Amino acid sequence: MISIDLSGKTALVLGVTNARSLGWSIGEQLIRAGARVAFSYQGERLKADLDKLTAPFEGTWSEQCDVTVEADLTRLFERVRAEFGGVDYIVHSVAFAPRAAMDGRFVDTTPEDWNTALSVSAYSLVSVARHAEPLLREGGSIVTLTYYASQKVVPKYNVMGVAKAALEASTRYLAYELGKKNVRVNAISAGPMRTVAARSIPGFGSMYDKAAGMSMLGRNATQEEVGKLGLFLLSDMASGITGETTYVDAGYNAMGMQLD
Ligand code: NAP
Repeated sequence: MISIDLSGKTALVLGVTNARSLGWSIGEQLIRAGARVAFSYQGERLKADLDKLTAPFEGTWSEQCDVTVEADLTRLFERVRAEFGGVDYIVHSVAFAPRAAMDGRFVDTTPEDWNTALSVSAYSLVSVARHAEPLLREGGSIVTLTYYASQKVVPKYNVMGVAKAALEASTRYLAYELGKKNVRVNAISAGPMRTVAARSIPGFGSMYDKAAGMSMLGRNATQEEVGKLGLFLLSDMASGITGETTYVDAGYNAMGMQLD
């Protein structure tokens, strides 16, 4: 029988708000496979809820970290070093674009909104990888979360589509460099999921229903399915896969036309 055993492994998941967060979906699978997992959240207001989520799982801990603040990243990775010694797996599950940039026309994107979206949603993967590099153990792995609007136009995603394109390209460049240390870097492209971040996308509800109708499986993928793909990509089961964007969207991205 083949199973994924991550006992003795350690992981850091950045960007968890609640049990619906895709970061939590992956973190939960890592915990079930036996890894010790740390979580980071952006604002102190989230700490109590996150502590409740992690309480049943021994060896987990959480720390505040705004990924755009260098001092926060330094403190977070110092704690990783102190608690874990090193780290095997990193999950980057962070994105943000100002609502105005998604409500309006793409042509009207301001430089401020562009910089915010690209900095939080794409550059942060690079800075997280830089902070993680000295602690990442040989055979380690990084996973980030992306969306199809990086490849095709999805109305309203606007600058977030551009940020996800930059994120996927960054995944490939990081995978090339860290591959020399036998560390893999991959992106998971998830179909629409009901999370707090998704709620800030104008018209998300109707998009969610439409995507289910157009997908090959006639439904949307689930948070649990994202978690299982994350577990697979991070673990040694995916030892030959790096620099890739892998879809978990019930086949939506592979459809070219809808006949009825
Ligand atoms: P989520 O639960 O809201 O997670 C997004 C996380 O990013 C939140 O914890 C948020 O914190 C955090 N964040 C935003 N700005 C940050 C910053 N400056 N520093 C640190 N953390 C910051 O929503 P999610 O849907 O799971 O999103 C996770 C990832 O999946 C994102 O990259 C998203 O684009 C991607 N994704 C989502 C979907 C979907 O349909 N939901 C589909 C494909 C890909 P706060 O709550 O404090 O703002």
